[in-house]
Amino acid sequence: MSLSGKTAIITGSNSGIGLGIAREMAKVGADVVLNSFSDRDEDHALAEEIGKEFGVTARYIKADMSKGDECRALVEQAGKCDILINNAGIQHVAPIDQFPVASWDAIIAINLSSAFHTTAAALPMMRAAGWGRVINIASAHGLTASPFKSAYVSAKHGIVGMTKVVALETAQEPITANAICPGYVLTPLVEAQIPDTMKEYDMSREDVIKNVLLERQPSKEFATVEQLGGVAEFLCSAAADQITGTTISVDGGWTAL
Ligand code: NAD
Repeated sequence: MSLSGKTAIITGSNSGIGLGIAREMAKVGADVVLNSFSDRDEDHALAEEIGKEFGVTARYIKADMSKGDECRALVEQAGKCDILINNAGIQHVAPIDQFPVASWDAIIAINLSSAFHTTAAALPMMRAAGWGRVINIASAHGLTASPFKSAYVSAKHGIVGMTKVVALETAQEPITANAICPGYVLTPLVEAQIPDTMKEYDMSREDVIKNVLLERQPSKEFATVEQLGGVAEFLCSAAADQITGTTISVDGGWTAL
């Protein structure tokens, strides 16, 4: 499969799943736009490396996904958007009665509202090009809940709902909108949850991984960023032309429980 001639914008892609998906997209020939809120030499170097490695145009554009105007500016600055991958996300873990308001607001803004803004900015470009793919990186937590993750679970359920709306609004156009729902993938976001969870449950790192993080993942294995990139590629293929408004779980059986 080739995505040559297509431009993919991947939000929150200087690390973890976003970076992994950007690499997989570039591997099959898509030009890629990487993004995060920082503007370091290493962010731009990351894009340059991907461009060289895969012979595509790769750019890094700084934009803070907690700010609506910057989300829209990212798409405008990219100038073209055939594939929009809404991936930027953060996490905070706390009981709801102790959940910091600032963390709630940031999670809703970055994990949910950013996709509203980028999608609104990208759809006219997809319509002009006569083809488009909106791929939202939700989570198993877009379909089910866990304690202490009120904002994250709310945002992820929200983005699954928004995916369905975008699919219906574009149903008679050559544009699809779907959500990928990963279970646990060992990325910096998951690494950052381990110390708090160790404290919460008074457990070792190994026990947290096996008995807490992967407790609900029946495969007992993390999903990988390459697998998620492969699923995103499939959603860009002609085989997926009639797949829209749905979720694809990559969770080792978690949501089958
Ligand atoms: P990560 O922390 O490695 O990556 C998150 C990315 O978002 C980073 O590139 C970060 O710079 C970026 N980001 C954070 N705040 C931003 C902001 N304000 N503006 C722009 N970019 C910002 O985490 P990850 O695990 O790769 O997560 C990526 C997505 O996948 C998230 O939406 C997350 O909820 C989802 N997800 C992750 C897992 C998992 O197990 N890792 C499981 C399900 C879903």
